[in-house]
Amino acid sequence: MPVSHLKSLDTLVSLCKSRGFIFQSSEIYGGLSAVYDYGPLGVELKRNIQSEWWKAMTQAHDNIVGVDAAIFMHPKVWHASGHVEGFNDPMIDDKQSKKRYRADMLIEQYILKIREKGDQEKADTLQQLLDSAGTRKGLCEDLHEIIMDEKIIAPDSGAFDWTEVRQFNLMFKTHYGAVTKEDDEAIYLRPETAQGIFVNYKNVLDTARVQVPFGIAQIGKAFRNEVVARQFVFRMREFEQMEMQYFVEPGTDDGEYEKWLEARLEWHKSMGVRPENLRVSPHPEDKLAHYARAAADIQYHYPIGWQEVEGIHNRTDFDLSRHQEFSGKKMEYFDQKNQKRYIPYVIETSVGLDRTTLMILSDAYREEEVEGESRTVLKLHPKLAPVKAGVFPLIKKPELKEVAAKLDRDLRKEFTTQYDEAGSIGKRYRRQDEAGTPFCITVDFDGLEDQTVTVRHRDTMKQDRIALDQVASVLRDGIHI
Ligand code: ATP
Repeated sequence: MPVSHLKSLDTLVSLCKSRGFIFQSSEIYGGLSAVYDYGPLGVELKRNIQSEWWKAMTQAHDNIVGVDAAIFMHPKVWHASGHVEGFNDPMIDDKQSKKRYRADMLIEQYILKIREKGDQEKADTLQQLLDSAGTRKGLCEDLHEIIMDEKIIAPDSGAFDWTEVRQFNLMFKTHYGAVTKEDDEAIYLRPETAQGIFVNYKNVLDTARVQVPFGIAQIGKAFRNEVVARQFVFRMREFEQMEMQYFVEPGTDDGEYEKWLEARLEWHKSMGVRPENLRVSPHPEDKLAHYARAAADIQYHYPIGWQEVEGIHNRTDFDLSRHQEFSGKKMEYFDQKNQKRYIPYVIETSVGLDRTTLMILSDAYREEEVEGESRTVLKLHPKLAPVKAGVFPLIKKPELKEVAAKLDRDLRKEFTTQYDEAGSIGKRYRRQDEAGTPFCITVDFDGLEDQTVTVRHRDTMKQDRIALDQVASVLRDGIHI
């Protein structure tokens, strides 16, 4: 059977819209760029991914607990974390179209084009210049110089009419409460969930009876005013992160970092993602963030190329030390057994829920030729599928409808199902294939006689006849594979 995988992001974007996975935010008003809403199927898929992550990161460990911190935090948090001073992207504006670009990405794309044209030598030289930007006159100046020297034009207007390169802080600012005084500090929408964990580290230590090593996990929204945000749910301005900070004794951090990197890669595979589409990309030592001792991306081969889905970082004692300094509160841990006092190191696993959803959908997408017709099918792992079973009467006869509707009601106590009696059975199968539904149960006349139904399997399209009272256990076995 000829099978093809996902080739372009646009194909997935239209499936997501037509089947109700993901919609553009405020679409009836022309949409808000880089913000998306999840529809009926999307919300189920996202919740299933979230729940698998939560189980793997908390329930499966006796030393990892969860928190749910607020999005608003004290303004000092973002000074301590370094975000007010350092969470910037270098940007440049095209004066003609008024469009804004990330200066480094503009150069990256230019290098890619040169590479595609076959001039590897020039591409390598430019890449070296880009990698060392910031070491000559300053980051903005160095990037500006490359754009000028190479006469890089604006991708949208084709103009060569640039502003200077400026640093642009990615945090969204707002004011807090009804009365705003001139000197009130701005409140920020959090750009990462991690700080909610760091500021609660002492609270958890004092209440949850945990000992180092231990972890705190959290799922929540984060906000970044991204300069370039044109890749569907890959880069959004409002998105969701699933993060776990693991507090360890300094000296054990290298081993824990390796362990978590491995564990997280395995988790992605356990979501049904094909291993050949996953890889680990360590950050070179000279490219590490100022707080990090080691860092790696887990990358997925998206239709837009190899890109980060998750980051694993050894953040050392940077965050806790900074919060100790800025808050004046002790962040030390006392190891009673060894009579030692220290600020723990932190190994962080940080994965975007939206990017994971995009990965899962991209990886599951197939177009297959079946008996001269093409079918689109999402081969989602059954535990992630938004709908576990479609329930159909073979035709719209009252006696079949009655049994199918009762079966659907019974199954709903445990599973998400969809009752469907509209159109031919083939059309109903195709609808469920596009939604990624692993099983379709059909009630037919033969089954009325002997209390049986047929189960049709999404991936093989094979059908089995099983006893009506066995349907729930067949679904259970098929989901928890
Ligand atoms: P990138 O380099 O792609 O901007 P990052 O290195 O800034 O990502 P982190 O700060 O490490 O990302 O954030 C952890 C995770 O949060 C990322 O691996 C990604 O899955 C997710 N994430 C970050 N920014 C966005 C965004 N704008 N939209 C969707 N997900 C995001």
